[in-house]
Amino acid sequence: MTMNVSEEGLDRLQMVMNVDEFAPAKKAFGELIKGNELFVKNRGEYYSDVKNSSSEEASELYQFSKGLNPELAEIEHHQTPTKAVLACSDSRVTPGVIFSHVGFNMIFEVRNAGNIFTKEAEESMVVPASHDTPLMVICGHYKCGAMNACAAQRKTQQMNEAMPATVANLEAVAPKGITDADKIAEYNVANVVYRFANSANPVLKSVFTGKKMKIAAAMYDIDSGKVNFMDFALVKKMLLDNSHE
Ligand SMILES: [Zn+2]
Repeated sequence: MTMNVSEEGLDRLQMVMNVDEFAPAKKAFGELIKGNELFVKNRGEYYSDVKNSSSEEASELYQFSKGLNPELAEIEHHQTPTKAVLACSDSRVTPGVIFSHVGFNMIFEVRNAGNIFTKEAEESMVVPASHDTPLMVICGHYKCGAMNACAAQRKTQQMNEAMPATVANLEAVAPKGITDADKIAEYNVANVVYRFANSANPVLKSVFTGKKMKIAAAMYDIDSGKVNFMDFALVKKMLLDNSHE
């Protein structure tokens, strides 16, 4: 099974991935990049810092996070997060931690095994879209168990019985010959970004066509702590690889 990718769909994707076009999205994107840089720099000390704030560098991370934190009274009745992230359920991929956005009202998180596109994930993103959140990030990661399950099924031809729906979803996102789990993870992100950008959901469609919400594609490296963003050209290439099968 492969995915249909159309010229119009790619045009919409390019528009939606143009983060610079919308100032609030650009600002949110910059804060995520800065937050991840601080996390990479300080992650060794991160946990001890949260406990005792002993390291000066880690304090920088803590200060950054604190600076973004709202007063509790401000969020009693509503939320105003400027980022929404679809990430894997993996306990090492916690968006608030890897972007140094630790606290309330910062990141609207949607998570499932493999950060796959499902109807439920799509509808969950309606909430931040309805709260003027300017940036959505699709954040995949390397060493992902769901990707391993898909890769194993491809290598052994044995149907996965534990996560059949997840693996079937992933089977569609990467060219058949790809059996490397990390590659499947990248293809999945490209696929998910495309599907959000071309969502028929009325709220999502409205914010994307109205240029009120942008989408960034990302891969998180558990070993280094670094989040690498994928540009439109790379995402497009992967989508075409898959659709030309
Ligand atoms: Zn995972």
